[in-house]
Amino acid sequence: MMHNEKEDQPFESAGPNPIRIPDNYNYIAVFLTLDCPLRCSYCINRFGGEAGRPQRMLSGREWVLGLNRLVTRPDLPITLQGGEPSLHPDFYDILAHLRPDINIDLLTNLEFDVEEFITRVDPRRIKREAPYASIRVSYHPEMMDLAALIKKVLRLQDAGFSVGIWGVLHPDQEQDIHAAQERARKAGIDFRTKEFLGKYKGKLHGSYKYPGACDGHRKRPVECRTTELLIGPSGGVYRCHSDLYNGRGEIGHMTDPDFVINEIFRPCEAFGSCNPCDVKIKTNRFQVDGHTSVEIRG
Ligand code: SF4
Ligand code: SF4
Repeated sequence: MMHNEKEDQPFESAGPNPIRIPDNYNYIAVFLTLDCPLRCSYCINRFGGEAGRPQRMLSGREWVLGLNRLVTRPDLPITLQGGEPSLHPDFYDILAHLRPDINIDLLTNLEFDVEEFITRVDPRRIKREAPYASIRVSYHPEMMDLAALIKKVLRLQDAGFSVGIWGVLHPDQEQDIHAAQERARKAGIDFRTKEFLGKYKGKLHGSYKYPGACDGHRKRPVECRTTELLIGPSGGVYRCHSDLYNGRGEIGHMTDPDFVINEIFRPCEAFGSCNPCDVKIKTNRFQVDGHTSVEIRG
């Protein structure tokens, strides 16, 4: 067990200074790292040329101390993601020391040693009652071998993990994705598709609530409020994915003992360079359509 040397308390216990997640929040996203071994041409992390990368990566110890302050609901897990989250050097320590009552989901491309994962992670730790898998694997045909991926997923399922595959319906890859879906389903794997978000041949794909939010041409001042807790690799908390990927406009920090979540509209000068993830129209956790992660006014 990891210990807090200063206070000689196990890291797993909920410490002082809890961070309460508001009831209307739909997502807790923890970007352990933005590094990834793959280079997908349509990577949403680089939408609009977003390339700013936080310099420092929070250590496993800092992540555990910060995330264990969260007071969340059983239906709102911490979603570990990236980049590829398993590239964090303390990935397994973080999984092992998050408070047991906090549910964990994992977004990954499975570009890691699944045998090591099976040895070091208890399947019950990443498994919960939900209408979709707790380990959500992204399949990228231009970068990945489907047969090898299916083998890895089946191995994890045999070991008791809840795993499903998601494929992006990029206009160039729709046939590949549907063929992969059929093959995976025949093998007994839940394979779902996702709308392609981003630009292709000059056209912006996706359904968005705020016209001009993602066109990248002009920026204008607005006010914006989020329903997601987005935490970047250095522990910074951001208003939106665009801020996070650009390393701009931190609104708090997980290592700050005074950090609390304020559900307020904040001024933003960057409307026009919003990331599609934040302004696409989707269903909320009550399956009501028309929801967006952020609300923009002005
Ligand atoms: S696997 Fe995901 S994070 Fe990595 S390059 Fe592809 S889309 Fe981006
Ligand atoms: S207006 Fe766009 S860029 Fe600004 S905070 Fe909201 S989502 Fe982010």
